[in-house]
Amino acid sequence: MNPVEQRFNAVGTRIDEACSAAARERAKVRLLAVSKQHSAEAIRALHALGQVAFGENRAQEAIGKMAALSELPIEWHFIGPIQSNKTRDIARHFDWVQSVDRAKILRKLDAYRPDGLAPLQLCLQVNIDQEPQKAGINPEQLAELAALAQSLERVRLRGLMCIPTAGADAQATATSFQRMVALQEMLKEQGHCLDTLSMGMSGDLELAVMEGSTMVRVGTDLFGPRPPRTQAGTQL
Ligand SMILES: *Cc1c(COP(=O)(O)O)cnc(C)c1O
Repeated sequence: MNPVEQRFNAVGTRIDEACSAAARERAKVRLLAVSKQHSAEAIRALHALGQVAFGENRAQEAIGKMAALSELPIEWHFIGPIQSNKTRDIARHFDWVQSVDRAKILRKLDAYRPDGLAPLQLCLQVNIDQEPQKAGINPEQLAELAALAQSLERVRLRGLMCIPTAGADAQATATSFQRMVALQEMLKEQGHCLDTLSMGMSGDLELAVMEGSTMVRVGTDLFGPRPPRTQAGTQL
């Protein structure tokens, strides 16, 4: 087995075991392969093993890889901070956007989504630990943003995404994940039809699955350490 296959199988086994430990159906947890800073060829190798969903956090870098891999039926997720001047590119090229955290960006993604494409699948990013510098909407403002998403034609709200405080202990992280579950339940009670809780990364995917994640976003443990970005920010 080559290293790519070994890592892919190891992550798959971790998800299998986390589902067993949590008595959850394996089919209810998807794997998003976070390919930021990795090459189109690295994506191709993982796709050949059966991985379908890939996550990127910079529009230009991702669009270059999409062009190189255009013949592959990949599901592309945008998971990075969204600048207003990138909304057009993101709305045209991605299948999902998981990092929506304000009304202006939401309206632009809707306006720029081409008519011929399926609605853009959305998660709202929640700043679950209310960290000052962190992206994500505050929990108190979530209901209003969700209602706006619901009212727009070219986007479809699927759920929530979070990145808890880096380096927090397992108990604190578990509590953050539990608050996400509660927010998702609140939105469901308000009539939203949601099926996606995107939480858990290389270091805490077991904990996230235990608390109810339906999508774990794994970079390092699938691709190895990230190489530095090139000057142009583009790696092919
Ligand atoms: C980079 C990134 C990940 C993956 O992190 P790893 O620790 O490498 O698995 C997950 N989610 C988001 C939003 C990221 O930017």
